Amino acid sequence: MPGPDRLLRPRHLAALAQCPRRLWLEAHRPELARATPHFESAPFDIHELARAQEGTGTRLGPHQSHETALRRTRRILAAGHPGPIFEARFVHEGLLAETDLLTRDPLAPERWRLTAVHRTTKPKPHHVARLAAQMWTLEQCGVPISRAQIRHIAPSFVLETPGEYRGLFTDTDVTASARAQQSDMADRLGEARRIVSGAEPDCPTGPHCRKPAPCPFAAHCQALEDAPEWPVTLLPDGGGRKWARKGVCDLRELDAATMAKPREARIVAATQSGKPYHDTQGARRAMASWSRPRAWLDFETIAASVPLWTGTKPYQQVPFQFSLHLEQTDSTITHHQYLCVDGSDPRPGCAEALARTIPPNATIIAYNAGFERAILRALARQVPAFEAPLMALTERTVDLLPVTRNHWYHRDQRGSWSIKAVLPTIAPDLAYTQLAVQDGAMAQDSFLEASSPATSPERRRALEEALRAYCTRDTWAMVVLARRLAAPQEGSAND
Ligand code: SF4
Repeated sequence: MPGPDRLLRPRHLAALAQCPRRLWLEAHRPELARATPHFESAPFDIHELARAQEGTGTRLGPHQSHETALRRTRRILAAGHPGPIFEARFVHEGLLAETDLLTRDPLAPERWRLTAVHRTTKPKPHHVARLAAQMWTLEQCGVPISRAQIRHIAPSFVLETPGEYRGLFTDTDVTASARAQQSDMADRLGEARRIVSGAEPDCPTGPHCRKPAPCPFAAHCQALEDAPEWPVTLLPDGGGRKWARKGVCDLRELDAATMAKPREARIVAATQSGKPYHDTQGARRAMASWSRPRAWLDFETIAASVPLWTGTKPYQQVPFQFSLHLEQTDSTITHHQYLCVDGSDPRPGCAEALARTIPPNATIIAYNAGFERAILRALARQVPAFEAPLMALTERTVDLLPVTRNHWYHRDQRGSWSIKAVLPTIAPDLAYTQLAVQDGAMAQDSFLEASSPATSPERRRALEEALRAYCTRDTWAMVVLARRLAAPQEGSAND
């Protein structure tokens, strides 16, 4: 049985709803789960913020043993606690419910409101499924629930005053849908117990592995299957599904000449031949109008669930760093960057540095430029002193991604044109795996840690250095990629 206390949690029932094998793996092999990249909105603990807004109450967790928490929960409920109660604990039939918040119903004080706190901007189906299991457990323990609700981030919240987070949360009543999931709860619990006490179920992978969310055990399950090295699922935009339905699993079984979409035909041909697709002339034509000076630009942003600076909303993208390789008319290149880790609002400094550094006649080049344009537009609105030059930059921003997508493919990209997939096929010595910060999620984590007053100066310097190295790699990668796209390549299929 799962865990040292041999109890099932509501998340185990949610796992069973996706697949019996997922339940078994969650219970016995949790270390095989691939973690979803995420960052915490340090220094904020979302549960602590939610508790603070409830006012005074009794907190039962987390610094006590499981048995003590159960005993204290029973004792204060029996004594008629007026609520709120934070982190109460209940067990019924081996199902453990660890609640975020219990409050007395003001209209019927003998009953309780059960609240789960999440950092999303709306309730998700798996939030409701877990709350339904909690609700069932509490009611089986004799605690009547009048309302089950998800307390989540209010998307319209704007931080007006530093540290003032009243209004950050909103509650959504999910009582009806939670109740609707309770009729077969005892059966599902029995089924879950049977599965976790047996051997690992043999479930083939399929569409259910992506619904309601991608399963974190996908790599484990796929490795156990006799999958081809180049599966048809590498075709972009779900293009492999129709072939899988026809029983064709391997890209090498397809005929490039009969593929309906040119991009799919290139993928099939490059995979079968092992030679990259490279249309040098097409790439040159696509980039011919990108006059110098050229500003190769990349932003790093943070989208904190709990806004960090006044005037910002939950999950608003705020740029804290940019890297810029500036290519002059004589083709010389200089590097420039901006990084703000002192905890202050990075937007004014970022706007000023962009306006000061990028020549007014430059072509701005980004990879997936819609993102950079959106950040420039938002900065123009939010830092009015630089509105005109920043808006002018958006109009001169071009995109290297479609040029790459239309004129280059190496089978090692495995169906992706992200710069991290393309770069190793062009310049293996520039792989991101050599860097301390390797992706956007790590950059956000590093930024938050570097900005924290609790971080030592030595650690902050190391984090700054890692962030600078990462963002610099992003823009230098574009320069190298564009040069390679425009250059003939020995052994390419086209030139
Ligand atoms: S990857 Fe698919 S088959 Fe494997 S545990 Fe997850 S849902 Fe089940």
